Amino acid sequence: MTTRIPYGRQSIDDSDVRAVSEALSSDWLTQGPKVGEFEEALAACCGARHAVALSSGTAALMAAYAAAGLKEGDEFITSPITFTSTATAGLWLGARPVFADVDPKTGLLDPASCERSLTRRTKALVPVDYAGHPADLEALRSLAKKKGLILIEDACHALGASLDSRRLGSISDYTVFSFHPVKSITTGEGGAVLTDDARAFERLSRFRTHGISKGEDWEYSVLDMGLNYRLTDLQAALGLSQLRRLDQFISRRRELARRYDEALRGWEGLEPVPGTPGSAWHLYVVRLTGPNAGRRREVFRALREAGIGVQVHYIPVYRHPLYRKLGFKKGLCPNAEAFYESILSLPLYPGLTDSQQGEVVNLLRRVLAAAPAEEARR
Ligand SMILES: *Cc1c(COP(=O)(O)O)cnc(C)c1O
Repeated sequence: MTTRIPYGRQSIDDSDVRAVSEALSSDWLTQGPKVGEFEEALAACCGARHAVALSSGTAALMAAYAAAGLKEGDEFITSPITFTSTATAGLWLGARPVFADVDPKTGLLDPASCERSLTRRTKALVPVDYAGHPADLEALRSLAKKKGLILIEDACHALGASLDSRRLGSISDYTVFSFHPVKSITTGEGGAVLTDDARAFERLSRFRTHGISKGEDWEYSVLDMGLNYRLTDLQAALGLSQLRRLDQFISRRRELARRYDEALRGWEGLEPVPGTPGSAWHLYVVRLTGPNAGRRREVFRALREAGIGVQVHYIPVYRHPLYRKLGFKKGLCPNAEAFYESILSLPLYPGLTDSQQGEVVNLLRRVLAAAPAEEARR
């Protein structure tokens, strides 16, 4: 059975096609003037001084970690409820991820658990704006300030979100976005780091292009170990075009989330993960609880068989074999593990129609009303 309704997907229109087509006929295919334009628009949109666009969200995380000076022997504290690259981007630099636990209802990094995880080696705090909901940035910022740590926000889910009417991108020392097709806007692949710090901006820019600093005429100097993590002008043209519809995308996501909230209100054994008014609503996640606890695989399979692309975000990062080899053990973050056992992401993207959403809700109702399968009761 093919997936008729995925959990997320891009929204591409004629203006996007025209923008990319024009860029394709210009003098620049790799990084050129469109990248700079995109960066300026992005920084302005989020209230940051600087933006550096990179080839992916993962590249952007690595650039932020490198610019923050993360290196061998350093630790950074992050959430296990995230995509692996939040942690692996630091591993590539020789730093060690330390997983703190999450709030059992929201899946967001718990500042008190972060504080308990601090050591002499801790250099950075890396919260994740899970599902597009802003992390507890106020508490984390004051913890970072008190302990002299760098705050690097993995906001890959949260472009367009705001906290107390401040757009994300202007709060942490570094804010990282992804432009993968399921995210708020897309450039195919792509990402960016936002910062207010001019020196950090230079380090991020150098990291993206081989650590190079330009000199006079033919001269250039390689100052640090960088990579080729550039975004192309084709992608930046798409990003600029998409950015014009960001508010439209986010308001449709918020509307769909409100509609799910209403449709699912009062269901026994089903608790939506609560968002905030300023959320970018990247994901709509429900937890199967009470009589439905332990039925996640059954519900997942039944919906997938009906063509609904439900998904699970995320297996706690340290439960993957790579991290087991690095010494992380089951039981490390009990809240994150319990949260993972209960969650299911329902389809949510700007192009999802009201009637498709209704179909998802009806199917979910039918599956949950059926007697639990033998397998789930075991
Ligand atoms: C998507 C994502 C990333 C990685 O972004 P890519 O653009 O796919 O490299 C990192 N962290 C989180 C939380 C993400 O959702």
